[in-house]
Amino acid sequence: MIKYNLICECGNTFESWFPSSSEFDSLCKKKLIKCIYCESSSIKKTVMAPHLSNKSNKIFKKTKLEKNIKKQLLNFRKYIEKNCRNVGENFTKEARNIHYDKKTSQGIYGKATPEETYELLEEGIEVVTVPWIDKSEN
Ligand SMILES: [Zn+2]
Repeated sequence: MIKYNLICECGNTFESWFPSSSEFDSLCKKKLIKCIYCESSSIKKTVMAPHLSNKSNKIFKKTKLEKNIKKQLLNFRKYIEKNCRNVGENFTKEARNIHYDKKTSQGIYGKATPEETYELLEEGIEVVTVPWIDKSEN
């Protein structure tokens, strides 16, 4: 004997015993299994527990992947901080100065609104927007 959790098209679930899994399949095909609530024969076995643990494994893997991306972005931030000058709110102005003066090739970083970034790109100034990862986050 084998016990299955069944779900009907009406959304109700119920348990039922069968002699074997092949017996369940043949009864199901012959539409001899009926919902105890609405008598419909559109019955399916509900998802078993192992599927749930698979799902949570996937979430775990995703979180791990996100952590790796975060780590890379954090390294990128460190690189920028080490090699570029922080101009903060003056970013747009400084980026233009560098682009038109061509006196310095030093990289800069700072804040710009999406509109400002768009304007700079329109003028042919190379700007890259990066997600700024908070160091305190792990
Ligand atoms: Zn039903």
